[in-house]
Amino acid sequence: MSTIHIIGAGLAGLSAAVQLARSGAQIVIHEGANQAGGRARSFYDRHLDRLIDNGNHLMLSGNYSVLNFLNLIRAETRLAGPGQAKFDFADLETGDFWSIDFNRGPVPLWVLYQNRRVPGTSMLDYLSGLKLLTAGDRSIASLFGDQGQMYRRFWEPFSVAVLNTAPDVAVARLLLPVIRETLAKGADYSKPLVAKVGLSDTFVDPALKWLSYRKVDVRMGRRISAVEDDGKRVTAIRTGKSKEVLGADDKVVMAVPANIAPTLVSGICAPDRFAPIVNAHFLVEGLDDTKLKSKMIGLVASPAHWLFVRDDIISVTVSAGHDLAGKPAADIAATIWPDIAKICGLDGREIPPVRIIKEHRATFQVTAEQLAKRPKTTTHLNNLVLAGDWTDTGLPATIEGAIRSGVSAAREIIK
Ligand SMILES: Cc1cc2nc3c(=O)[nH]c(=O)nc-3n(C[C@H](O)[C@H](O)[C@H](O)COP(=O)(O)OP(=O)(O)OC[C@H]3O[C@@H](n4cnc5c(N)ncnc54)[C@H](O)[C@@H]3O)c2cc1C
Repeated sequence: MSTIHIIGAGLAGLSAAVQLARSGAQIVIHEGANQAGGRARSFYDRHLDRLIDNGNHLMLSGNYSVLNFLNLIRAETRLAGPGQAKFDFADLETGDFWSIDFNRGPVPLWVLYQNRRVPGTSMLDYLSGLKLLTAGDRSIASLFGDQGQMYRRFWEPFSVAVLNTAPDVAVARLLLPVIRETLAKGADYSKPLVAKVGLSDTFVDPALKWLSYRKVDVRMGRRISAVEDDGKRVTAIRTGKSKEVLGADDKVVMAVPANIAPTLVSGICAPDRFAPIVNAHFLVEGLDDTKLKSKMIGLVASPAHWLFVRDDIISVTVSAGHDLAGKPAADIAATIWPDIAKICGLDGREIPPVRIIKEHRATFQVTAEQLAKRPKTTTHLNNLVLAGDWTDTGLPATIEGAIRSGVSAAREIIK
């Protein structure tokens, strides 16, 4: 029987494995780390004495690949959200607090109501979204930068969160597929979703359990150091000194990050400029989260971008945080905490125990040059396919993109 080797057990690799296991294939997963999940993982933090995620991950109810994956691995109840398509925001410069509150159905009636749209914007401002249809390679800032509050309070925070790239260089058109699959379809597709307990509990543990029932051989701590080929097909994979020779019908799904793939196989084109995401997890013992205005708030005019509260942990995300990522953890905490304290009614409180996590290569940068480097699923080698959020999924580098790339890779293999 032929074997399918999957290199990398991030969500793209796990998604490919789940699809392929359904078809009854014999599968081996090789994961370099001692833990699966890649850039979406949880761990026990001794300093905080809490289970935390490497970073806050926000999904939307229109992310159908995420929901299908969770249904397959029987983990559909492990996402949580407010049950409404409502996003709270605070402007730290003006003190304004507001919610964007989407209505059901594709007709955006919410823009007609002052209390459901961004303060300082008019109904007509929302028509600017149509510019995305003909944006070409224009950046977010060049497309929407002259739009006052609509830019400051909507396009800028939305695009930085989704594209993880500074608005002056982020290619705007990559927002289109996201908007089409979520916001443009109305509230049922735009509800925010986060992991209830943690990313590993939602995605990774149930996937591994599901795969173990299907006798998938998952090998942790097995970093692949080379993939050998004869110009037509992959012939062997190496781990340090050991070498596994592939049979004539064996196949490989390479689901490693963009910076690793070209080092394993020559001739693979991949994005090579990345943007960091910084996360700060503050432990506020005794925090009464029922007294907070919201458990998920987007921040405008602040070094912090999004704030999420889970029990007594306030987690803060800073996307495209190039400057912040270069600073020591203590400086990052000191930069972020004053605004967080203000929003959470903890003004004047000293910085609580905190864990700073810098993911220097959180996603590739969404510039025209980088988008042109996203490869297709199939490669020049006939038994090698690619998966990963950086492949040409048509989506930004997100969980939805990663899982969808795994489905595409599995489809190619089965074909
Ligand atoms: C801090 C942060 C916040 C984010 N926020 C969001 C969000 O809010 N919403 C959202 O949708 N997305 C978000 N993302 C993006 C999301 O996490 C990624 O798109 C997704 O996890 C990528 O999955 P992947 O499988 O493509 O890659 P990875 O998760 O990078 O998986 C690749 C795997 O390959 C393994 N590997 C590498 N080299 C080798 C080797 N030589 N041999 C064997 N194995 C190897 C790695 O250990 C890893 O497990 C965020 C990312 C970060 C870092």
